[in-house]
Amino acid sequence: MPSDSIPNEPEIDAEEMVRNIIEWVEIESPTSDAVAVNRMADKVVAECQDLGLAIERIPGEDGWGDLVIARSEDANTKEPGILILTHIDTVQPIGTIEGDNPIRREGDKVYGPGSYDMKAGAYMSTYAYRYLQRLGRKPRLPVTFMFMSEEEVGSPFSRKHIEAEAAKAKYVLVAEPARDGGKVVVARKGVADFVMRATGRPAHAGAMHQDGRSAIKEVARQILEIEEMTDYERGVTFNAGMIKGGTGINVVPRECEVHIDMRVVTPEDGEEFTEKLLNRKSHDPDVEIEVTGGLNRPPYQMSEGGNALFEFAREACQEHGLDLQYTPITGGGSDGNYSGAMGIPTLDGLGVDGAGAHTLDEHILVSSLLPRTKMWIKMFERLE
Ligand SMILES: [Zn+2]
Repeated sequence: MPSDSIPNEPEIDAEEMVRNIIEWVEIESPTSDAVAVNRMADKVVAECQDLGLAIERIPGEDGWGDLVIARSEDANTKEPGILILTHIDTVQPIGTIEGDNPIRREGDKVYGPGSYDMKAGAYMSTYAYRYLQRLGRKPRLPVTFMFMSEEEVGSPFSRKHIEAEAAKAKYVLVAEPARDGGKVVVARKGVADFVMRATGRPAHAGAMHQDGRSAIKEVARQILEIEEMTDYERGVTFNAGMIKGGTGINVVPRECEVHIDMRVVTPEDGEEFTEKLLNRKSHDPDVEIEVTGGLNRPPYQMSEGGNALFEFAREACQEHGLDLQYTPITGGGSDGNYSGAMGIPTLDGLGVDGAGAHTLDEHILVSSLLPRTKMWIKMFERLE
């Protein structure tokens, strides 16, 4: 018997998993295309119905795709259960599979947009459930799967539903991609978005330069000062990631707008720096600035419950030779931020190993399917 098999049980069929993951990746589903995301939701609904799960499909608000929630039949009891967070939206536009990152298998790698982040992980969580079902077994606790339609933009519509489900859960497992060689995630930085808009006074850049008040110049000074607040040791970063302004090379610009991304490790830093951003003052008294925005994903750090959950998973993985490690706090947000910040034991990065999230090199490692599916199966069977 191979050392990585669960004794007295049939092998997990990694090839079956690859075939099905490819079917999920073939349905391209960029966040902004609700029709496409809903096609993916249709597939998820059909597969979850096949698993005997009760489906709740919540129509997307504000133009987003639908949210799918699938519950085991005991999930309506009062017993707090396992909540699984996944998302079915992706970042690459439709057509990526025909051009920039076609679905293909090269050795251990299967390429395709949204494969690693995170269709393979979402599928894997359902496969683990299916595997148990085929053996006539089931998770010890009630299980609720959530398939978000707009995670890649911070789950603005799903957030309230995630928090409502998390409040009822004992454990939250997030099937987001594994990090750096299979590491899981136990803490995530908080993420904030800000927009700064400056309004100056336009003037002819040649004839009336002295009368102009440049909004671009003001924003430029602001950006330098804001980015200088970055403190890597404290884990606080600022990035002016998008900027626009001006109407012509020969006009002193009246308007300028910059989008700023902020990441923080602690809620306190989140509050402190949000305040600093919102209360920025203009250098030029003739230029008005206005800042809007704030934290959209609260930070969470490893809690006692989160640590216990990690240790539980690590021990289960040791039995089949998988040395589970966690990554230092990551700057990337996920829906795990919401449950983690609520203090619900949350283990993230339980998805498939691979690389290239949000790039055209995105792929999964087929060799990670077996050991990580086993991890899911054991978590389902043993968490109580
Ligand atoms: Zn993701």
